[in-house]
Amino acid sequence: MINLFKLSKDDVIKRIVTAGFPAFRGKQLLDWVYNKNIVEIESMSNLDKGFKEYLNSNIKLLTLDTIKIIEDDKGETIKFLLLLGDRNTIEMVIMRYKDKDASKNRNTLCLSSQVGCKVKCPFCATGTSGLVRNLKAEEIVQQMSIANTYLKQYDAKVNNVVFMGMGEPFYNKDEVLLAASLIKENFEISSRKITISTSGIIEGIKELADKELKYVLAISLHAPTDRVRDYLVPINKKYPLNELMKACRYYQTKTKKRITFEYIMIDSMNIWPDDARNLANLLKGIDCHINGIPVNSIKDSEFKRPKKKDIYTFKKLCEDYGLSFSIREEKGIDIDGACGQLRNKERN
Ligand code: SF4
Repeated sequence: MINLFKLSKDDVIKRIVTAGFPAFRGKQLLDWVYNKNIVEIESMSNLDKGFKEYLNSNIKLLTLDTIKIIEDDKGETIKFLLLLGDRNTIEMVIMRYKDKDASKNRNTLCLSSQVGCKVKCPFCATGTSGLVRNLKAEEIVQQMSIANTYLKQYDAKVNNVVFMGMGEPFYNKDEVLLAASLIKENFEISSRKITISTSGIIEGIKELADKELKYVLAISLHAPTDRVRDYLVPINKKYPLNELMKACRYYQTKTKKRITFEYIMIDSMNIWPDDARNLANLLKGIDCHINGIPVNSIKDSEFKRPKKKDIYTFKKLCEDYGLSFSIREEKGIDIDGACGQLRNKERN
């Protein structure tokens, strides 16, 4: 049995033709899965009995089950707890950005790439549990299908993908890059709409650069000095800021693409005036944008969300130093928006 979500559309057709069925049967199957978002073979009404029997014994479609869906009050953030075949659980989140012009509505899917994570950032609920295992490409891709099935009720689809859920994508690099290319091809999402967000694994950044993959690169920076970053992003001890910045410059020289730096904003920790100055020095010469993300307070955590006035003072300081800085819209606060929180709750 092979999982359909680890195959390109061409590969699916080839397999079906090799098994002795006409190519149009393969196209019908793909239409059900990718256009109609139906993954139950029995519901695919135009497939004949023999072809359904072949599919049932050769091609797997469903491997993830949805255990729980939680929507925030505005219906803009929808969080899913998903059950994998081995009973592990992961989370994924849909963020809906509505525009006055409905054709510009954005539906961003935040995907998980691992069960747990070994980077252990202290502010992150996923990190607290350590790494359980890597996800396979088909388990990553299937999150897209589940999200699109959910969005069907709004006549909408995912049009933006971020590898920013549970896990460090470059610690599962091969499966993540395979999943990204399958999402691009099978769901027709352009590379510019796929973001790979890393805590700073230099080998991964260099591979994106060398392969000239056009995905958006986001780096979880969170602090402009090694002293603070060693604490907030422990992988910094292995890949310190000067090495990370060298890799970013290498990436930019190769790809000419702008880099996004994620900067979690924590009260009394990393939004001092000196931090803005250090940030400007660190990023000098790199074409980049900074996403300021006010931290989501986790229960009993030492990390507190800054006051609104402090958030905007820091943004202004950074802008005065010439940095492009925005505050990420606050979504999902009332449903434990930070990754790993829902999963931890279910396990407790
Ligand atoms: S923030 Fe990302 S890299 Fe850090 S522990 Fe959480 S999932 Fe891992």
